[in-house]
Amino acid sequence: MPIDSDFKTNRQVATKHEYKGPAHDVWGPVEAPAKLGIHGTAVAVDWDLCTADGSCISVCPVNLYEWFDTPGHPASAKKSDPAREPDCIFCMACVNVCPVQAIKVTAP
Ligand code: SF4
Repeated sequence: MPIDSDFKTNRQVATKHEYKGPAHDVWGPVEAPAKLGIHGTAVAVDWDLCTADGSCISVCPVNLYEWFDTPGHPASAKKSDPAREPDCIFCMACVNVCPVQAIKVTAP
């Protein structure tokens, strides 16, 4: 099951997350540690799908992502965080490389 392409319609912003960059929105529901929601909006990563493959982090030409520890989550104990979301150049490399289709990037 890929990330919901209509997440902005189907979900609400539950909180913000700030880590090694400006704060980004987190689309709920969030019930840590088992349910973590979607991090980011223009660069959106569904943390409940992310299995910590890491290909998105390796492939991103602008070094946008950071690992963030999520102990206790059933899919993986760390997640790819769109820490510097405003830096995205919309190359779509991360979207294409993600093995579980957890990422949606929306160009302006
Ligand atoms: S679309 Fe490209 S620039 Fe934007 S986060 Fe993904 S890999 Fe990085």
